[in-house]
Amino acid sequence: MNLLRFLEGFIEKEDVSNWEINYSQFKPAEEGLREAICTLGNGYMGTRGTACESPASRIHYPGTYISGLYNKLATNIAGKMVYNESMVNCPNWLFLTFRVERGEWFIPSAAKPTSYKQKLDMKNGILKREIITQDRRGRKSKIETERIVHMSSPHLAAIQYVITPQNYDGWLVIRSGLDAGVRNKNVARYRQLKSRHLIPLSSGRFAKNGIFISSRTNQSGIEIGQAAKVRIFNNEGEFNPEISIIKTKNKAIYQELRIFVRKKQRYVIEKTVSVYTSKDKNIKRPLISSINSVKKAVRFNKLIRTHKQVWDNLWKKCDIKIENDLFSQRVLRLHIFHLLQTASVHNINIDAGLPARGLHGEAYRGHIFWDSLFVMHFFNLHLPNVAKALILYRYRRLPQALRNAKTNGFKGAMFPWQSGSSGQEETPISHLNPLSGKWGPDYSHFQRHVSFAIAYNIWEYWQRTNDLTFLRRYGAEMLLSLAQFGASLARYSHKDDRYHIEGVMGPDEFHEKLPRRGKAGFKDNAYTNFLVVWVLSAAAEILKVLAPNDRNKLLKKLEIDNNVLERWRDIREKMALILNSQGIISQFEGYFKLKELNWPLYRARYAKIQRIDRILKAEGKSPDEYKVSKQADVLMIFYLFAIEEVENIFKAIGYPFNKNTLRKNYDYYVKRTSHGSTLSKVVHCYMALMLNRTKESWHWFLEVLRSDIHDTQGGTTPEGIHLGVMGGSLDIVFRGFAGINILSDRIKVSPRLPKRWKGLKLRFLYKRHWLNLVIRNERLSITILGPQHKRFDVPIEINGKLNYLLFGKVYQYRLTKKP
Ligand code: BGC
Repeated sequence: MNLLRFLEGFIEKEDVSNWEINYSQFKPAEEGLREAICTLGNGYMGTRGTACESPASRIHYPGTYISGLYNKLATNIAGKMVYNESMVNCPNWLFLTFRVERGEWFIPSAAKPTSYKQKLDMKNGILKREIITQDRRGRKSKIETERIVHMSSPHLAAIQYVITPQNYDGWLVIRSGLDAGVRNKNVARYRQLKSRHLIPLSSGRFAKNGIFISSRTNQSGIEIGQAAKVRIFNNEGEFNPEISIIKTKNKAIYQELRIFVRKKQRYVIEKTVSVYTSKDKNIKRPLISSINSVKKAVRFNKLIRTHKQVWDNLWKKCDIKIENDLFSQRVLRLHIFHLLQTASVHNINIDAGLPARGLHGEAYRGHIFWDSLFVMHFFNLHLPNVAKALILYRYRRLPQALRNAKTNGFKGAMFPWQSGSSGQEETPISHLNPLSGKWGPDYSHFQRHVSFAIAYNIWEYWQRTNDLTFLRRYGAEMLLSLAQFGASLARYSHKDDRYHIEGVMGPDEFHEKLPRRGKAGFKDNAYTNFLVVWVLSAAAEILKVLAPNDRNKLLKKLEIDNNVLERWRDIREKMALILNSQGIISQFEGYFKLKELNWPLYRARYAKIQRIDRILKAEGKSPDEYKVSKQADVLMIFYLFAIEEVENIFKAIGYPFNKNTLRKNYDYYVKRTSHGSTLSKVVHCYMALMLNRTKESWHWFLEVLRSDIHDTQGGTTPEGIHLGVMGGSLDIVFRGFAGINILSDRIKVSPRLPKRWKGLKLRFLYKRHWLNLVIRNERLSITILGPQHKRFDVPIEINGKLNYLLFGKVYQYRLTKKP
């Protein structure tokens, strides 16, 4: 058999269920989780997968979020004003329900349906339900719904709601609404904070079957216009029903439509909605735009067609196919699906970054952290224009980052730990410990490493795309400003002829300060110090790439002269790291002196100890006193950089490094980490794989996959997905299992598939060329798309040998060595 056909044979034999997340019962307790998992979005907006029949309640929480739409509110907490900027829960466009005359309105949680099936169709971006319900008078209805948030017309969303009376003829009342009376109430911990962000402006009807509502955020002054129309059909054509309007002081508007229905006939209700805001490019009157676009909108089946086409194209670029592991297959697709819904090509026209919890819920108030570090590789390798749009969100906040650095006594650009609309620091000054009910100070903004994560994203984008225009216009300026910041953090000490950094926190947020110290922050956090050396090296590389004219202009603009460059060089050779005699890298100065935690005791005492910080605090102790980390900190170094790169930097700064360094540090820190952040599992999975501990890495991989779909943190996913862990899982597949490492002079491919995976197929974009890879039965096939008969100028290393490939040709290799 032709080898390629053999290799690819498995791929096409796919079952549709590989593309679906199915739920076969209505479970009130799981509804919050499902709402997050079934969120639909298109980069412009996201709407939770909430039953459209219910307003916010104990069980249901409809949430619609628009990328980059924030509002800030002040709350008095214990006599202190605290200010929180939140991604606003926008008016609820979903509302659609019905009742049979003289019966009650249908709400799944109240009706207890006799049959309830829900399906997230990821291939086509559709949320489907099939329900059989009966009202108190015994009238049985079958309901079939489909919902989309349109992927090609980002302002449009629609629901098709089909009702088939099972055992009755009679009048049906359909109620559809737009509700601006919503608040930000998704996260229990924030409930003491002010939550009303919207001022209702106006509401009313248009044409015969349309309604609209307009509102404005009360601090940021963004106007949101929503319009909706409802049409009803049966197999004889369109209805022309009686419609009445119900308004609740402009906060919500509903239309009620009455139709006479007959047993066993299908009644198709279509609700089409459009959303615009005054923040949208070239939109002056959002309400008018939304009304006009709804008026023009075509029928649901046509909308679906164009929506599916776009999804189809996205999957062609981004899908990962796995043979013989349905769970991994589905969950990886779920992760790709949510990444694509949080940021899409529409982001090119939107000023927004990647919120850590997606457009899926209100945890962390829609803020943007360093988590993009775990996600950007995906966009770089599949949709680089989206990656660029996300970097430009930061570029537009470069002036603010320069101010942030200045007011904190530094140079260059310091990006905030939590970022929202302005680029100012949005980290709250205090946070609530739900275990003790007490508010405590929040020092997490001392995590300066977020700035270097941005530098890393810029560098990677540049390395993957070769986009020189980007580099000249934005990237170089950002990267050099970030290098300036890094250098200004470093202080030289004559005592040891080394540079040190004080007052910072690493990713491990359990440690805020040394025990009994008043001041937050640490000296010589290894990860931060390492990143500073790296960013200074990256800046030096970038300066070599720029044309002399561009380089000189930029150096002048940023006031970087030879003395500065000399100092940067010096830091690159003399940055301090702390290592003990066994080669363990100290997370920060003083870490080794901390007490060991009695892990078995806490494991026995508490069902979950991921948030051991909260447990310790509630016991009147402090995590600062113990060797206990929330997440990978030192290990981040080995996660982000190829071992060769780490070795080079260690050598340059004059510290010993050998092949055991990775193993020793992994073994040391894994025992002392509680994985209170899902990101930690990604890093440990990748580390274990690097160490050839296949069983252990598989264990971590399952943990990574389960994080959201099974809400393993126990209650965090209903408040929004974890975009970082989703991106991280794809990175593990790419760099880990497929073993694709893009180095400066070559692409190394050394696959190590999990035992149960029979095959893996993926593709990625590198310097404008698509590389298709199939790995199966210890064999690898590669095809690079590009101009016929020409050679791809980057060698591919397979089995330790460099190969120069021609475009368009199928290359096959037997994988000899297990790395
Ligand atoms: C983690 C951070 C992360 C944030 C947002 C926190 O729990 O410790 O590393 O950036 O969540 O996802």
